[in-house]
Amino acid sequence: MKVCIIGGGLAGLAAALRLKSRHEVDIYEKKDHLGGCLSSHRVHEYWIEQYYHHCFSEDRQLFSLLSELGIADRLEWLEGTTGYFADGTLYPLNTPTEILRYPLLSLTDKAKLALLTIRSKRMDPETLDTVTAEEFIIRELGKRTYESFFEPLMRSKFGERRNHISAAWLIGRIAIRSNRGLSGERLGYLKGGFQVLVDALSDAVGRDCTIRLYDPVTRIARESGEWRVNGQRYDAIISTIPPQAVIHAGGPDLPPLPYQGAACLALGLDQQVTEGIYWLNMKDPGPYGAVITHTNFVPAERYGEHIVYLASYFTGDLPVRADTVMRDHFCRTFGIPASSIHWERMAVEPLAGPVFTTGYRKLIPAYQAKGFYWAGMFSPSNYPERSMEGSISAGYTVAGELDRTGGEA
Ligand SMILES: Cc1cc2nc3c(=O)[nH]c(=O)nc-3n(C[C@H](O)[C@H](O)[C@H](O)COP(=O)(O)OP(=O)(O)OC[C@H]3O[C@@H](n4cnc5c(N)ncnc54)[C@H](O)[C@@H]3O)c2cc1C
Repeated sequence: MKVCIIGGGLAGLAAALRLKSRHEVDIYEKKDHLGGCLSSHRVHEYWIEQYYHHCFSEDRQLFSLLSELGIADRLEWLEGTTGYFADGTLYPLNTPTEILRYPLLSLTDKAKLALLTIRSKRMDPETLDTVTAEEFIIRELGKRTYESFFEPLMRSKFGERRNHISAAWLIGRIAIRSNRGLSGERLGYLKGGFQVLVDALSDAVGRDCTIRLYDPVTRIARESGEWRVNGQRYDAIISTIPPQAVIHAGGPDLPPLPYQGAACLALGLDQQVTEGIYWLNMKDPGPYGAVITHTNFVPAERYGEHIVYLASYFTGDLPVRADTVMRDHFCRTFGIPASSIHWERMAVEPLAGPVFTTGYRKLIPAYQAKGFYWAGMFSPSNYPERSMEGSISAGYTVAGELDRTGGEA
């Protein structure tokens, strides 16, 4: 069969890997490189992800893909420490002592939160799809905990939509991040960066498939029982881009999903900033919601400098000069002279991931719908949070469906 895959991110590459030996596969990628959200910046002699990435101990498909590609020895497990920055003070939140000392929650609030974290692993997120995270936390932990702890986190992640986010997303998030040791969370990373995975996957796929970089899909049509994509004939189409992006090109009209954009400013610095904390959530409203110091996770010696991400999410248009506003705010807040910054790179993706609002589950497209195969951040395997694991799994599933149905989606 002649198969068209729209999008050269993880889902598209994983699907191509499974299909390439039996079918003629073309991958259309609108950018000049593969990798999608897992792409990296080339800085000096190293690669650094455009958007901070780590993996989790449950990511089984990801680990077996690393083995299949011969790069499993690159996987390493490191401590990912977290903290909260509130009213100009940095509070580490890793060891039991640090958590006990945290002044913005009472002892009872902390005990209730710890119990919910333990219970979260046994909860079924799907049953919480229609309840808002706000309602759920207030019911389980009280208004004070919601307002002083969760609400700022939800605001920085979802902005004005924070009151519409489902408890399914929140509980999934708490469960996945509860894999903690005594000093922090155990998180996976690839030596050399996740670009190693993108490169290995691109090599494996590129040997047998046609990769069409810088070739956005803009025209889709159905003619005499065949698909036409940008004028080329295909028997089947796998889309890894969201339904609303496909409609613009003339593809099937599935209901649009709520999505949001991400803007991430990466900075190379000559100094440590966040007192050894990897993931620092910002309590006070500002132009970014978290300061993620990559080199407090992966040793700075590997890069010869410190690397920090300023992470923000947006809906609609990104504010003008967002990078300058973020950088200036960061320098002011953390007392960093501009001369300490060696380089900066801004990454912006308007469709960086679904927003898991209440009722989202009903909108998830099936792997086959309206003549198309669908796999990506919007797939069932990426509910109630998107991940590398979810996109690899979606790519594999859709490849299996395509084989099983002979292209008759
Ligand atoms: C800020 C951020 C942080 C993240 N952190 C983590 C993490 O720590 N751990 C984790 O497991 N996951 C993380 N993720 C999620 C992970 O990156 C994604 O789930 C995964 O990479 C998505 O792959 P995908 O192929 O489904 O989608 P995408 O990566 O979005 O790939 C879609 C591809 O389609 C291309 N495209 C779009 N439109 C067209 C068109 N018209 N024609 C042709 N091509 C087109 C795009 O350029 C892109 O390459 C993060 C994501 C973001 C945004």
